[in-house]
Amino acid sequence: MRLPETADTFRRSLLQWSEENVRDFPWRERDRSRYEVFVAEFFLTQTPANNVADVYPKFLERYSSLQEIGEAEVEELEAVIEPLGFQRMRARALSSIAESQDELPGSSERLQELERVGPYVANATLCFADCAVLPILDRNVERVYSRVFGDQFPDSRSERERFCTEMLPESAVDVRTYNLGLLDFGAMVCTKRDPDCDDCFASEYCVYATRG
Ligand code: SF4
Repeated sequence: MRLPETADTFRRSLLQWSEENVRDFPWRERDRSRYEVFVAEFFLTQTPANNVADVYPKFLERYSSLQEIGEAEVEELEAVIEPLGFQRMRARALSSIAESQDELPGSSERLQELERVGPYVANATLCFADCAVLPILDRNVERVYSRVFGDQFPDSRSERERFCTEMLPESAVDVRTYNLGLLDFGAMVCTKRDPDCDDCFASEYCVYATRG
């Protein structure tokens, strides 16, 4: 796939932005296990990060491993997850995952076989916990790339995944930094309703900003 001419500039600027601005959350600490990162990403798919940050330490204190989730009653899990919403669905899915696995698998494909685990949660877990070289693609990432690259960001899901893969930096450590930066850039600067184009490093070449 041929990337837009501005891809390299954007990649380098985003990496630098990420090193300076990425947000601290408990699940982003470097020594977090795959299980601990997975729990956070599983909750973050439909819940704002600040809400997850309230429940996350309590959840891990009570369930420090998949085995402990497997030993818990679903109703108990529901009560702990309740402030996040979707507690029944989430508790059942976590319980079912814990019943079928002793450990979370280390491949994205196998993680995606688990109940209610999609490509985003699988790739984010492995990238952030294990520095796996994997792209992340959610609505925020799609919005950022669509704005910056306009029509050169493809339409189909499979082409978008390829695009996101080719945008990744070469080093695995940089991939983690880049993906975290992409998430936070979409949440803090290139927001859905009010993108801060005046203060954005990409404003000179971003299709959305330059077309007004
Ligand atoms: S210039 Fe505006 S629209 Fe473009 S990436 Fe930056 S914040 Fe988003």
